[in-house]
Amino acid sequence: MLSAPQQRSKPIWKKMTRKTVFTYLLMIAALFLAVIGYYATSFLNSEAQATATSTASIVTEAPVPVSFNSDHAYADVQTQVDFGPRTPGSEGHAKVREWMRAELESAGWIVEVHESNRLGHPIYNLIAKRNDEEPQIILGAHYDTRFFADHDPDPAKQTEPVPGANDGASGVAVLLELARSLPKDTVPTWLVFFDTEDQGRIEGWDWILGSRAFAEEIKTTPRAVVIVDMIGDADLNIYFEKNSNQIIRQEIWDTAARLGYGDVFIPTEKFSMLDDHTPFLETGVPAVDLIDFDYAYWHTTDDTPDKVSAESLDAVGETLRQWIINQK
Ligand SMILES: [Zn+2]
Repeated sequence: MLSAPQQRSKPIWKKMTRKTVFTYLLMIAALFLAVIGYYATSFLNSEAQATATSTASIVTEAPVPVSFNSDHAYADVQTQVDFGPRTPGSEGHAKVREWMRAELESAGWIVEVHESNRLGHPIYNLIAKRNDEEPQIILGAHYDTRFFADHDPDPAKQTEPVPGANDGASGVAVLLELARSLPKDTVPTWLVFFDTEDQGRIEGWDWILGSRAFAEEIKTTPRAVVIVDMIGDADLNIYFEKNSNQIIRQEIWDTAARLGYGDVFIPTEKFSMLDDHTPFLETGVPAVDLIDFDYAYWHTTDDTPDKVSAESLDAVGETLRQWIINQK
């Protein structure tokens, strides 16, 4: 059998037309570019990640940009109620004072105690300041709670003390969180925690003893005093208080409206209050009372943290923070 002449196979490139070669070259080039592109992209990504990481670490090292932390404020309401009643002379009264001092000092404030005596009762007002400058603004809240829940619907509970989640703790909580979140370069501001506000209509006591002692004995003339009292109600509606300075209260309500709290701060007069702003008004210092007196649990044993909300503390705290920042 004749063997068929072996046809030597041509090298592959000789079988290919010029066009095919060109196509292959194009494919190789594309593959090469794809690989280069992949590495380049992943390198750039890792660069971007590295940049992001270093930015994040810069942010944690720099002073943290702060706003009013309403969860912290709400926790401060719970902490105070956990101390038990803060009735004058009680264990809770002494404990809350030491705790407030520690919180204020760790936020960088200097704490002084203004000691006095009214109707035979010792008074301890706490004053927090950043430095020795005279205050242009004083923010105040009472930290005592009432001896008797004399508005409790259950007569058997009317001789028990008030837990004071809203009536006492809410104002203190807002002031403490402002201590943590106010910028350092505001106009000189004092935070004052008044003793013995809430013992009126009790034999041997009266309302607003602490703020009265302060207004009579501390010689300073701030341009504004703002009191916060019962501002933690989960259903918060703060109306203009009738005795308050009209210019300052308008400024505060305008600030609230700009921040979106127009549903909380209602620019209509409703109540006329005797509160810690009264002694200042009597000595000619412009003063405002922020209070929501529509509170079903006022002076009852049901004035507990579940009636207070972080959102309400936030509306008041953020409004006051912004109002103070805007003071020049
Ligand atoms: Zn009260």
